Amino acid sequence: MISFSSFYKQIADSELQHWLEDLPSILGKWQREHKHGNLPKWEKVLNKLNYPQPDMTNFKDGVTIGSGDQLEAGQQQKLSNLLGLFQPWRKGPFTIHGIDIDTEWRSDWKWDRVSKHISPLNNRTVLDVGCGSGYHMWRMLGEGAKQVVGIDPSPLFLCQFEAVKRVAGNHHPVHLLPIGIQDLPPLDAFDTVFSMGVLYHRRSPIDHLLQLKDQLRVGGELVLETLVIDGDANQVLVPEDRYGKMNNVWFIPSVEALVLWLKKCEFIDVQCVDIDVTSLAEQRSTDWMKNESLVDYLDPNDVSLTVEGYPAPKRATIIAKKGQPNLDLI
Ligand code: SAH
Repeated sequence: MISFSSFYKQIADSELQHWLEDLPSILGKWQREHKHGNLPKWEKVLNKLNYPQPDMTNFKDGVTIGSGDQLEAGQQQKLSNLLGLFQPWRKGPFTIHGIDIDTEWRSDWKWDRVSKHISPLNNRTVLDVGCGSGYHMWRMLGEGAKQVVGIDPSPLFLCQFEAVKRVAGNHHPVHLLPIGIQDLPPLDAFDTVFSMGVLYHRRSPIDHLLQLKDQLRVGGELVLETLVIDGDANQVLVPEDRYGKMNNVWFIPSVEALVLWLKKCEFIDVQCVDIDVTSLAEQRSTDWMKNESLVDYLDPNDVSLTVEGYPAPKRATIIAKKGQPNLDLI
C-alpha cells in the first residue's frame, strides 16, 4: 500500500506542520475508498519496481533517471513493460534507464514557457495543485526547490508518480498526495503555488483563486496557467456542454477577466507573462498514450475551432503575489 508516513515525518517540524491535524484522516479515508478498483493492481506493479539507485539523475534539463547503461537489455525491457502498465501516460516526457516515455503532452514545453518568468525556486517550499503525474514537480526540484508537494485526486497519476519516484530514489523531497484543492486547510505557508491546467475544471473559479491564496505565505507567488479566450474584462466562455470533448470545463475567461478576478481576490503584482495557442505537436497520441488527442478535439476543416465550434485551446500564464490580508474580504 502506498504510504504517506515519510511525508508526515518530513513536515512534522516544518511550516507545514498544521497540516498534520487533518491530513492523515483525509488520506486514511482515501485509502479505504480505493481498496477496490485499479489501485490494488497498480500497487502490485509498484512493488516490482526494485532497482538499484540510478547512476545519475537530471531534473534541470528534463526528467532523466539513470544513464541508460546501468541495466542489462532484458532488465530494461522488463522495466519498460512494467511502466507500460501505467498507460495512458499523459504528462511528461520521462527518460528512465534509457526508456523514453513519450507522453501525450510535451509538458517540458509548458515548463520552458512558464519557468523563465517566475521567482527563482531555489530553497523554496512549493505546492503544485493538479500536478498530474508530477512531471513539473521534478523540474521544480531541478530548479533547487527545498520541498515540492503536489496534489492531484487521480489514482493513476499518483501511481505514475510513485513509479518514477521508486526508480529515482525515495529520498527526493517531492511528494504527491491524492487529494483535491478543496481538501486543503488554509496553510498560509508555501513560497510558490502553481495551478496549471486546473482553473477551467473548477466550478467556482473565484473560490479556486481564494483557495490558492490561502496556501501562500504573504509575499508568496502564484503561478496560474489556464485556458483563455480573446476578449475584454467581462468576457468569459461557459461551454454549454463539452469543450474540446471535455465534459468538465466550466469557465474560460479572457486574460483581462482573469487579471480582474485575481485583483478582486486581492492578489498584487498581477501580470500575464505568456499566451500560447496549443499546437498539435504539443498534445498528441503516442505509443504511451494511444487514445484520442488534440487533433481529434479540433474541427477537421478549421483547426482554429474545437469540434463544438468554440475557439481552439489557447493558454495564458499569469504570475501574482499574495499581499497583506484584508480582513474585509470574505
Ligand atoms: N498541472 C499539470 C496537469 C494538468 S491536468 C499540467 O499543467 O500539465 C489537470 C489536473 O488537475 C488533472 O491531473 C486532474 O486530476 C487535476 N484535478 C482535477 N480536479 C482537481 C482538484 N479539485 N484539485 C486538484 N487537482 C485537480
